[in-house]
Amino acid sequence: MNQSLSSPSQFNRQNFDEWFIPLYAPADFILVRGEGSRVWDQQSREYVDFAGGIAVNALGHSHPVAVNALIDQAHKLWHLSNGISNEPVLALAQCLIQHTFAEKVFFCNSGAEANEAALKLARKVGLSQAANKNKIIAFHNAFHGRTLFTVSAGGQPKYSQDFAPLPPNIEHIAFNDVAAALAAIDAETCAVIVEPIQGEGGIIAATPEFLQALRARCDATGAVLIFDEVQTGVGRTGHLYAYMSTGITPDILTTAKALGGGFPIGAMLTTDQFSQHFKVGDHGTTYGGNPLASAVALAVFNYVRQPSVLAAVQQRSRLLIEQIQLLNQKYAVFAEIRGQGLLLGCVMAEAYAGQAKQLQQLAGEEALLALIAGPNVLRFTPALTITEQDILEGVLRLERAIQRFIQQ
Ligand SMILES: *Cc1c(COP(=O)(O)O)cnc(C)c1O
Repeated sequence: MNQSLSSPSQFNRQNFDEWFIPLYAPADFILVRGEGSRVWDQQSREYVDFAGGIAVNALGHSHPVAVNALIDQAHKLWHLSNGISNEPVLALAQCLIQHTFAEKVFFCNSGAEANEAALKLARKVGLSQAANKNKIIAFHNAFHGRTLFTVSAGGQPKYSQDFAPLPPNIEHIAFNDVAAALAAIDAETCAVIVEPIQGEGGIIAATPEFLQALRARCDATGAVLIFDEVQTGVGRTGHLYAYMSTGITPDILTTAKALGGGFPIGAMLTTDQFSQHFKVGDHGTTYGGNPLASAVALAVFNYVRQPSVLAAVQQRSRLLIEQIQLLNQKYAVFAEIRGQGLLLGCVMAEAYAGQAKQLQQLAGEEALLALIAGPNVLRFTPALTITEQDILEGVLRLERAIQRFIQQ
């Protein structure tokens, strides 16, 4: 093969279509470098990043705290396997336990894997109580990952319907419907899995009454309450974990995305009581608790959990919301701006229903990286450390995108 072909600057978007199984439809530009909330493409065009790698890059791009943790660990030890423990993963476990409800942790590499572990643990807990206690209650519109078990728990049939037969006994009910939840969670229910704020489903927050009802009903029936905090966790909402602002403590919490700040890692957190149902060999993964991932996650987590950093997330959130509201007073493209902290969704106004993707594309053309959450919501999940200047510059670019959008 011609060596010159492997020079990164010679790659382009067409190569993706040529070589990749067509599961994604990436943007036309290819990014090569990032710093904070700015990124640059192959032609050195600079973009403002309001996407944060899909709610992952909590400290933005190339933050010194994360870079140094990665480089320090890279010189020491990369990987061992779970046959031998390592210091970074022990430190990370201790830190997660100190700063959450958890007493025990399991490490993996992604959100789907964390949820897979949670659902398997819940099935095993249920089995210990009764042979038929294996029903899982999940919610319409939910997103829990792409493994077969997690797409089945997810409440968007488009992600699961072509892959039947699916794991059985998962029942979906309406999100935020207290009466439906009280009726559905029964003696045969082993678990309820819920996102405190539905992320992919459109940035829809669970109401306090709903979460309270789930907690009470799980307690009454002996079902395990699982909070999927893969998107809401690690400072995203301005709280270290979203559950901390709800007054409701789950039995199992799953965390990934921002946990590694861009280095792949996931974790399942739980109590002593529930953890005891898993025995050596019941579950596992080769890379889970890898030293490199753990070292980076520890640095990111310790940075994000500082009260000043979490308070700044709230300030940045207020600024971004206020700026988008000002735009919306001029252009009336959004019906609602919702979410918490730096997990924000702009719901398209009636006249533009279903057109979030078009606006996102125009934002990209104006050098602003944004996300969507379903066809009707433009989503922003910037770095928790985004500067005021980057917020204002991003909003200027959003305005240019909106001007073009309404003229279409
Ligand atoms: C992204 C996401 C997942 C899946 O995480 P992966 O790392 O992509 O497997 C699961 N649950 C929620 C709430 C998510 O936002």
